[in-house]
Amino acid sequence: MLHEVALHCYNITQSYLAINTEPLLNSTTRETIKHTQHAIQLSRRYLLQDIFSRWDPFNGEISFSYNGGKDCQVLLIIYLGCLWELFMKSIQDSQYGVEYHRFPMDRVPTVYIDQDAMFESAQEFLQESVDRYCLSLYESPKDKQVGMAQAFRNFLAVHPETQAIVIGVRHSDPFGETLRPVQETDENWPRFFRLQPLLHWNLSEIWSFLLYSGEEVCGLYELGFTSLGSVNNTLRNPYLRVPEPVVGASLAPSEQHHSDFEWEIAHNYRGDGQAHCSRVSHGDLQAIREHDASQFHPGWYLTKDEWERAGRLARRK
Ligand code: ATP
Repeated sequence: MLHEVALHCYNITQSYLAINTEPLLNSTTRETIKHTQHAIQLSRRYLLQDIFSRWDPFNGEISFSYNGGKDCQVLLIIYLGCLWELFMKSIQDSQYGVEYHRFPMDRVPTVYIDQDAMFESAQEFLQESVDRYCLSLYESPKDKQVGMAQAFRNFLAVHPETQAIVIGVRHSDPFGETLRPVQETDENWPRFFRLQPLLHWNLSEIWSFLLYSGEEVCGLYELGFTSLGSVNNTLRNPYLRVPEPVVGASLAPSEQHHSDFEWEIAHNYRGDGQAHCSRVSHGDLQAIREHDASQFHPGWYLTKDEWERAGRLARRK
């Protein structure tokens, strides 16, 4: 039920915001959590004050763009938590008791543009997210000839009530530098508002919050992917390759060979001290290992934003 998921996401967010960083001995962990707490507060402010005052998320005016990637998953958790806060506020402002109020929506309107060959495991994770987060998913018909703009035009033809779309883009993404939290689409695009409340987040902040949440993330990340692209152009991130041991040489530990998020995993909201990753299909595993049999560290070992897409290469035609 959406109201249960929204409350769960609200509790995750509040629990993260309540982490007392002062006693944490590791300064990287302490600083990352402090910055992430600020990042969450700013995203909440964009949503609750700037966005929900202009568009009503409960009547279909806002859709959420989701592909199962880590950034939109972080944003979805925060967004659902904000829906809960909005609902609670409507109860406080009402003259009627809590027993007269019902959560005003059953499913979150969501759009996925299916353009390129996706990993089977990412597709499965997307479908699992539909149930886990109560999404009402519009999947664009797969057609390589149709560009993004046309795919969104087709979406709006089916859902003309949509006025704004939430997008988990960040400033460090390609072409993300000059984006603003609320802006209209460019020329040659169908008219809607792009809602981008995650722009200011960096990679460390994304992983800190996501791993703390205890929510299952797409299993490809555990294998060394740092961003979910198409099967045709995405490899595991080369900066995460585990070096082959060289006889007689001592390996200097480089920054990609340890995780900065051990505290978050050990103290996760779920309370079981583990990272949770979805199953990777046999077919994906085989294709990934056939290409490169090396071992890779999990995607969250990489925290340099500029290397996040180092796994995007031409792979197959
Ligand atoms: P990752 O970079 O790890 O794959 P991500 O997919 O969330 O995570 P981006 O690839 O940078 O992040 O995409 C930015 C945002 O654009 C996503 O968070 C999502 O909101 C939206 N988006 C990207 N691809 C699609 C798609 N195929 N359909 C719908 N929305 C998408």
